[in-house]
Amino acid sequence: MNKPEHLHSAFDQYATDSLLFITNRPRLVFTEGHGMWLTDHNGKRYLDWLQGWAVNCLGHSPECIQTALVQQAKKVINPSPAFFNEPSIKLADMLTSHSCFDRVFFANSGAEANEGAIKLARKWGKLHPNKNNEHRYEIITFNHSFHGRTLATMSASGKAGWDTMFAPQVPGFPKAELNDLASVEALINDKTVAVMLEPIQGEGGVIPATREFMQGLRALTKEKNILLIVDEVQSGMGRSGKLFAYQLSDIEPDIMTLGKGIGGGVPLSALMCKESVAVFEPGDQGGTYNGNPLMTAAGLAVLETLLSPGFLQSVTDKGNYLKAGLLELCEKHGLEGERGEGLLRALKLGSPIGGKIVELARDLEPTGLLLNSPRPDLLRFMPALNLSTDEIDLMLSMLSEVIPVAQKNV
Ligand SMILES: *Cc1c(COP(=O)(O)O)cnc(C)c1O
Repeated sequence: MNKPEHLHSAFDQYATDSLLFITNRPRLVFTEGHGMWLTDHNGKRYLDWLQGWAVNCLGHSPECIQTALVQQAKKVINPSPAFFNEPSIKLADMLTSHSCFDRVFFANSGAEANEGAIKLARKWGKLHPNKNNEHRYEIITFNHSFHGRTLATMSASGKAGWDTMFAPQVPGFPKAELNDLASVEALINDKTVAVMLEPIQGEGGVIPATREFMQGLRALTKEKNILLIVDEVQSGMGRSGKLFAYQLSDIEPDIMTLGKGIGGGVPLSALMCKESVAVFEPGDQGGTYNGNPLMTAAGLAVLETLLSPGFLQSVTDKGNYLKAGLLELCEKHGLEGERGEGLLRALKLGSPIGGKIVELARDLEPTGLLLNSPRPDLLRFMPALNLSTDEIDLMLSMLSEVIPVAQKNV
């Protein structure tokens, strides 16, 4: 604190030491964001392909969310979850009329929505016991899956090392292999109550469940009288080009969770279910901020935009445009290919240069590029769904500039 003035970098004006350390972050403080662009404390601009981790589905600070928040804040912010409020009723009604689900419970994060899904499935398993009249509670999940950072959702997740990180785990989450129906069938026993999966594994590296697998899972779970839960926290809300990714497989799950894009940047998530599974009783589920009108008003603004004519088709079209561009990069730089659906895509680098590319792209001058590398040999793309093809071209040309530099550096 007592350093001479000339030794302070602009960054040192910020007392970041007061924040609990959880991860290494670049020495940048972001002060403004509009659409696909973020500005840091030095005034440098970045083309942002992270968008708050696939959260800002309409880009940074879109006008429709600004308006919704300001107008709702002037009316009422939180009458309490013990009372009804207008935005949450309207948003629930819109979500049920555009999906196969009948009921919605709003929460504040993806992990919290998933906790709700786990509780709902276990409650249903209590009401529908096995032939020995025992409660069913096991939920089959998948290796490399990600469901959140609470204890139960970490236990449900299939990330390497997470089983021992905060031991003991919450029991009851045996792991199968994605796109391997036999591996699921082998885990089903008289304690099994549900199968839970991401239709497109996001953090795991953008790995879509195949249509055949999703249809096979639906048939298998029906036959065995167990529930099918889709975690669409990342894949939902238009990201795949469909409003919900389960619709790509023409199936109807029993339970779905939403997060990230549903709030367009503000903390909002949802647990949705079929009427037959809506078994919560008073005292089972709740939360101080759940379904508050301020956040659900933002959710309404997001959903109205996603449902406007041509919007979802434009996501598919831009996804195809991005795919073609990524395949060109593969040709040019000898990379291994790409995969994904809509505007959730990954580029297979063929060597562990992801981290280096992220750094080089961020440090480009005069404007930087923000990218994500969920695995050392992979880049993930999760832009705003309303970005322009010019912004796709700009990203591709900036990326093409740094790839050979990173390749030389391995
Ligand atoms: C991000 C994510 C979560 C966790 O959401 P939070 O809002 O961070 O709790 C859960 N599931 C999936 C598939 C995710 O991508």
